[in-house]
Amino acid sequence: MKKLKEYNFKGKKVLVRVDFNVPLDDNGKILDDSRIIGAIPTLKAILDANGSLIVMSHLGRPKGERHKKFSLNQILDHLSNLLQRPVNFANDCIGGEAEEKAKNLKAGEVLLLENLRFHKEETNGDVDFSKKLAVLGDFYVNDAFGTAHRAHASTAVIAKSFQNNCCFGLLMESEITNVEKVLNSTDKPVTAVVGGAKVSSKIDILLHLLDKVDNLIIGGGMAYTFAVATGGSVGKSLVESDKLESAKEVLNNAIKKGVNIYLPIDSANALEFSNDSAKETSDIMNIADEQMGLDIGPKSLDLFKNVLLKSKVILWNGPMGVFEFDNFNIGTKTVGQYIVDATAKGCFSLVGGGDSVSAAKQFNLAEGMSYISTGGGAMLEYLEGKTLPGIRAILDANS
Ligand code: AMP
Repeated sequence: MKKLKEYNFKGKKVLVRVDFNVPLDDNGKILDDSRIIGAIPTLKAILDANGSLIVMSHLGRPKGERHKKFSLNQILDHLSNLLQRPVNFANDCIGGEAEEKAKNLKAGEVLLLENLRFHKEETNGDVDFSKKLAVLGDFYVNDAFGTAHRAHASTAVIAKSFQNNCCFGLLMESEITNVEKVLNSTDKPVTAVVGGAKVSSKIDILLHLLDKVDNLIIGGGMAYTFAVATGGSVGKSLVESDKLESAKEVLNNAIKKGVNIYLPIDSANALEFSNDSAKETSDIMNIADEQMGLDIGPKSLDLFKNVLLKSKVILWNGPMGVFEFDNFNIGTKTVGQYIVDATAKGCFSLVGGGDSVSAAKQFNLAEGMSYISTGGGAMLEYLEGKTLPGIRAILDANS
């Protein structure tokens, strides 16, 4: 399939789906512009190639109704500064005004459309709505990795109107390339570190990863369900008693597939779910009845260090403990540091999926990782082995 840089955009009106779903304060000030920054290389590449841009995105969850606080005109000035040119705005993403403004665009000009989700047809994946968007441009680019797991009109359905006339944006390309690099690596050993609260939300990832990795390190709240599944007693720790069989399935499949599983040996416990509760470390298989495990302990860290520093590829998803509490963030912080150390020795590391990305940023570890994914839910579904609708649509339209 042709890549963005191989197309000739001269004189083309390029309809680009981006993810500008940024956090704003009550005055409309952008609190974190990383998602906008992420799309800039794609937008600039098209402008540099003498194309014009029609940019579309969602912002928040307006559920099909117009709300000032979800208007994309709040990001207009910032986008204009980043692209170093004026950006025109259409007050509705479809209809007369948008069509007229799109028609009049000249090479190098930019039009930003109002929030797609002001129309409920967007999230419903409505075909007619996707056609009303499609008339605005003569080429379609999807660069919204963060919403690639949604089969919405502008992310999946619209590609049908652009047969052999659409491609991935640069951000989407790099997300796919980097995660594929981990999942299909010929460099070995490949290690996945999976943490987070619950087995239930990670079970599909764990099962899928067993076909992809040599080592699987499990930490975080879900480690306690594994401890119980293997005969431990873990006091008041987070345990999903209906997931004990799932935990056993992971352990059994790992044996069948020759994957080494590393579970925590010890646990940092507290009497209450609180940063101020006194910390006591014990064997994870033998936590006192009144205690709950909130972080992994030092022996687990030694074990994990050994595995991580020998790895050639590492995938990190999910914290090792309640990293939001200063007194129980050591496990997450230290595992992150080991991944940075391994990366410095030439290992390829990818951090993806919600909380581990926040943790890497919070502990200033992000710079030391090879790749930080921008897509929380989308990356999780990718790791579960699902084909994301936003990706599938572009592939189908080019097959
Ligand atoms: P997830 O979204 O599934 O990746 O889970 C992330 C959340 O898991 C974070 O908010 C952590 O505080 C929480 N977490 C990690 N370890 C534990 C634990 N031992 N007990 C309770 N919650 C935990």
